[in-house]
Amino acid sequence: MRQPQHARPDDALAPTDAGIPAHFGARRYHAYNDWVKRTHGGRLQKISVAAGFTCPNRDGTLGRGGCSFCNNDGFTPSYLREQPTVPQQLDTGIAFMRRRYPGTQRFLAYFQSYSNTYGELARLQDAYAEALAHPDVEGLVIGTRPDCLPDAVLDYLGALASRCHVELEIGIESCSDAVLAECLRGHDFACTQDALRRAAARGLFVTGHLLLGLPGETRDSLLEGAEALARLPLDSLKFHQLQVVRHTRLAIQYRDDPASVPLLTPAVYVDRVVDMLERLPARLSVQRLGSEVPPELRLSPDWGMRLSAFPALLHACMQQRATWQSRLCTA
Ligand code: SF4
Repeated sequence: MRQPQHARPDDALAPTDAGIPAHFGARRYHAYNDWVKRTHGGRLQKISVAAGFTCPNRDGTLGRGGCSFCNNDGFTPSYLREQPTVPQQLDTGIAFMRRRYPGTQRFLAYFQSYSNTYGELARLQDAYAEALAHPDVEGLVIGTRPDCLPDAVLDYLGALASRCHVELEIGIESCSDAVLAECLRGHDFACTQDALRRAAARGLFVTGHLLLGLPGETRDSLLEGAEALARLPLDSLKFHQLQVVRHTRLAIQYRDDPASVPLLTPAVYVDRVVDMLERLPARLSVQRLGSEVPPELRLSPDWGMRLSAFPALLHACMQQRATWQSRLCTA
């Protein structure tokens, strides 16, 4: 059987004298980009595509209004609305990335919006095949919810991963059942744990998506969540700060009762990310540290900083706390 990607030997390098694992390089955390360079020999650029999927929290299966924080327009590049087909979207996205990062030659099709494993298996296979048929695409990144991963889909993705690069991105959002219920997510943390274990059993590379600052989330619940995640077969994590986006249920709640949506400041957010990273294993890579919503869609206050500033902020916080990812990990 193929070795699971989360158990690659280069993720178990010996710690340095300072206690910071050697594979972190000059950082105090394990950056996904470093992992990609080590294991794939260079940059893999993700190109967002929209294949017309929906999600059970929007089509009426679980609900119609979606998760309280969700407005997919906030995270969907505008070219996806202008280009109707996946090949056209890939052409546009690849041309843009080649202009922005000259020399970039290797691309992954990123099925980002909505739940991209929600549908008949034949339809999913067609969508993935259409992306993989593009001559410049060498793999897929597939974003979805944990309750949209039946065994048949995972079996298919596991087989596909033996032929090309496949990353599965699962929306965890929170590890607290109370928080998940409050944001009308429609599944609990047990569902997430089950999906992660079944995906890892097929050797899939799995990324978890976390949203910090949801109503009801506390420092204690985040620490408990980090300890639970440390015991799960996760390869990578994306951290995001909660932003109130227009045309969401959270926006209505925030306008009606701002105190019921206590937003994090940048300093507290970074502190919470460090709290979690300290309890997460060194093998797990960090793929994102935050996100930007277009200003015209954001209702919550502007943090006044670009996404590119987050790594330096995180490093400064870790340095000041004399800590690093995995320092308090017991898993
Ligand atoms: S966050 Fe994902 S699961 Fe929730 S409503 Fe939006 S698309 Fe659906």
